[in-house]
Amino acid sequence: KEFAEICLKDIDQLASNSFPLCMRHLFGKLREDHHLKHGGRMQLGLFLKGVGLKLDDALALWKMEFSQKIGTERFDKEYAYNIRHNYGKEGKRTDYIPYSCQKIISSTPGVGDHHGCPYRHFSEENLRAALGKMGVGGHALDDVMDKVRNRHYQLACTLTFEAIHAASCDTGINHPNQYFSQSQKILKS
Ligand code: SF4
Repeated sequence: KEFAEICLKDIDQLASNSFPLCMRHLFGKLREDHHLKHGGRMQLGLFLKGVGLKLDDALALWKMEFSQKIGTERFDKEYAYNIRHNYGKEGKRTDYIPYSCQKIISSTPGVGDHHGCPYRHFSEENLRAALGKMGVGGHALDDVMDKVRNRHYQLACTLTFEAIHAASCDTGINHPNQYFSQSQKILKS
């Protein structure tokens, strides 16, 4: 799959316009807490790589946030390696690929973790609040919650996509990076 490059200066706007809820949540927590646990760093980090954030920009982003909490020295020592590793620049030099919805939905986030799929892992109350912030309300929100109750998480995400973009998504959502690229296609057309 080919993805365009994205710039660090655009990332907050892209997050609010085109990130699926799972990644909006992680990105928001990274900005808010200046930290994410391992599962969140992997899920968000590989997604950002997939949407076209270059390694240098990724390092700058994580460093900007983490250093506010733990200082630049600890960041360089303990976290920079893993980011380069995700980009295939360390260790076995594997080019790791972003997680699919299926993988994210079947993950098991623990206390203090922010990874996972909000449709699957949020309480109903938190999910309603998060969807409200994305601008999903009324019948659209009821339809999304209906899918969630029936454990059709990807369909819930697809309905969210359709409500936000006022456009249909016939293929359905099966990958966070697909959500992003379809959103960008609509917003740029
Ligand atoms: Fe993310 Fe997929 Fe869940 Fe949507 S269905 S929030 S893209 S994991």
